[in-house]
Amino acid sequence: MRQDIQPEFHQATVTCNCGNTFTVGSTKSEIHVEICSKCHPFYTGQQKATSARGRIDRFNKKYGMNNQ
Ligand SMILES: [Zn+2]
Repeated sequence: MRQDIQPEFHQATVTCNCGNTFTVGSTKSEIHVEICSKCHPFYTGQQKATSARGRIDRFNKKYGMNNQ
C-alpha cells in the first residue's frame, strides 16, 4: 500500500457554538460545529426545540413514521 496517498490522521479539537470542546479522530486539526451532543436538543430536550422538531419531521417523513 502506498503511504503517500494516505491522509494524515490525528486528534482534532472540536469547538461547538455552546462552548463545549472535545476531540475526535480526524484528518483535520480543528473542527467547528454549531451543535454537539451536550447542547443538541435531541439529547437535552430543551434548547432550540423548533429546529429539532423540523429535523425530526424530516426524519419521520424519510422513514414513513407518520401517516401523511
Ligand atoms: Zn454544543
